[in-house]
Amino acid sequence: MESIKSYVRYNETHKILICLQHKHAIAPGTGLKRHFQRQHPEMSSGTRQKILESVKDLELEDVDNVVIPDPEEYPIADIEVKNGFACRHPECDGFYAGEMSTMAKHCQRKHGRQDNDPICWTEQTVQTIFQSNTSLKLANIVR
Ligand SMILES: [Zn+2]
Ligand SMILES: [Zn+2]
Repeated sequence: MESIKSYVRYNETHKILICLQHKHAIAPGTGLKRHFQRQHPEMSSGTRQKILESVKDLELEDVDNVVIPDPEEYPIADIEVKNGFACRHPECDGFYAGEMSTMAKHCQRKHGRQDNDPICWTEQTVQTIFQSNTSLKLANIVR
């Protein structure tokens, strides 16, 4: 029997459940089951049940309520740190992206940037806390 501990770890500070293989947090509620069904097709249903059973009493924060740590704080353990981008537009209240295409889209929509305009972002280390079609939350980490 596979060990549950190799799949998930609970982060008490942020009240999130982190998938150790995908290195991001899993949305609570129905998101848990969905994650293991879709993202871990090789997992036996017995293991999946065991995991869901073992985490059902954990206090998990809703995606919208998870507090993004201050940039000065250490990265969240077990979540992938990757090279991303931070918007530096003077009128921006803060936007981070893991992909440059996402940043370019943001700057076009929010700041009216045209394709040939100089870029208004810089490289920035980021962590994507949640990663799915419906929920994406980024933290910026100062190197
Ligand atoms: Zn996973
Ligand atoms: Zn911006």
